Amino acid sequence: MVACAYCERPLVCDNCQAEYAPADPETYEELSEPEVAIVCPSCEKVLVCHWCKTPYDGLPEGDEGGSNAPEIGIG
Ligand SMILES: [Zn+2]
Ligand SMILES: [Zn+2]
Repeated sequence: MVACAYCERPLVCDNCQAEYAPADPETYEELSEPEVAIVCPSCEKVLVCHWCKTPYDGLPEGDEGGSNAPEIGIG
């Protein structure tokens, strides 16, 4: 069993409800590194904790809202 790094409950994929089990110790260690995205091995989507809804997408926390992509429009 792997505990969620954020809420410390058993890590379950919110998309397919599969309990997340890392294939090897290296993958397990990636869980503690927020910059590394974790993909569910069952549904192959970014793992989202079923309990706290935190996505393991490798993006920093507290960055809600839109992105500031530069848009070039010449008309
Ligand atoms: Zn969680
Ligand atoms: Zn899944």
